[in-house]
Amino acid sequence: MLKVIQSPSKYIQGPGALSHIGQYTKMLADHVFVIADNFVMSLIGDAVSKSLEEHAVTSHFEIFNGECSRGEIKRLSDISASNQCQAVIGIGGGKTLDTAKAIAHACRLPVIISPTIASTDAPTSALSVLYTELGEFDGYLLYPQNPNIVLMDTRIIAKAPVRLLVAGMGDALATYFEARANSAAHKPTMAGGATSNTGLALAKLCYDTLLAEGYKAKLAVEAGVSTPAVENIIEANTYLSGIGFESAGLAAAHAIHNGFTVLEECHHLYHGEKVAFGTLAQLMLENSPNEELETVLDFCVQVGLPVTLEQLGLRDSEKLHQKIMEVAKASCAEGETIHNMPFKVTPEQVYAAIMAADRMGMDWLY
Ligand SMILES: [Zn+2]
Repeated sequence: MLKVIQSPSKYIQGPGALSHIGQYTKMLADHVFVIADNFVMSLIGDAVSKSLEEHAVTSHFEIFNGECSRGEIKRLSDISASNQCQAVIGIGGGKTLDTAKAIAHACRLPVIISPTIASTDAPTSALSVLYTELGEFDGYLLYPQNPNIVLMDTRIIAKAPVRLLVAGMGDALATYFEARANSAAHKPTMAGGATSNTGLALAKLCYDTLLAEGYKAKLAVEAGVSTPAVENIIEANTYLSGIGFESAGLAAAHAIHNGFTVLEECHHLYHGEKVAFGTLAQLMLENSPNEELETVLDFCVQVGLPVTLEQLGLRDSEKLHQKIMEVAKASCAEGETIHNMPFKVTPEQVYAAIMAADRMGMDWLY
């Protein structure tokens, strides 16, 4: 199998990065289509249009309606086309960014992605998650290319609620362990090839950065400030984890996350919060050494990621065993990334791993 690494062409990060967006947009286009939701537009609209003007880039701004649906993608693509825009800029959270990628693909234009939060590793990737107008999951759009530019203004990201940054750490926590498993199993990654040394090294750097900087970054954002640790965590959550998951592979942690989405009780949780618990369950599943499990548990407890079923919103009841079995079965569905583990995985094994991870988490907390 060939090794494949894919990534955005440019990754730009720092305080005030958005005020340089004109300079980088000019390299791709003279006339650009900009989308953001109402809230984000009121926050950054002026700074973005000023920077574009400074670099002689004309623009058409449009408000994103909040859902990355086929209808919204069509509506905005039509506006972009009728205005003869030469590139698309998406600024905001995951749905805005996914919509910007979809418009750019539909109109065959370059795309600039500027996240205002660091809660997942999706921004750098070559895919969008589609929802129906009612907000239900509708499928994935896969693109032949990653975004041309991912631009992170860390001053804005550091001002977002701390729980979002911590959820991003949960998503990033899985990256190394899933890459390690996928690589041992010699399975293809999301990039469509074998794991490279580069992919694995970035995934490992992602994990090491979380352990070294995560707690400090969480405290800084709680205090409403940005520090070098916050900068390092934003890079780990977004770039390292992004390249890691796409080019080094997904395995049990994300499949177990997908399993938990079948439970109503878990709908209030962020993606990365469920992924963090999925990571603990994966480590149990592969019988990882105590030392490794303890390091991960310590990290989760320090930054505030869930380590027990109760913290996921699941109370001990007669029905709990049945619910966890449902989660285990869903995580082993055909096509799930749990089949990238280096051994055959059954729902019974996943059930046992979740229950054992919960017990170890409880032991750690009390
Ligand atoms: Zn993820």
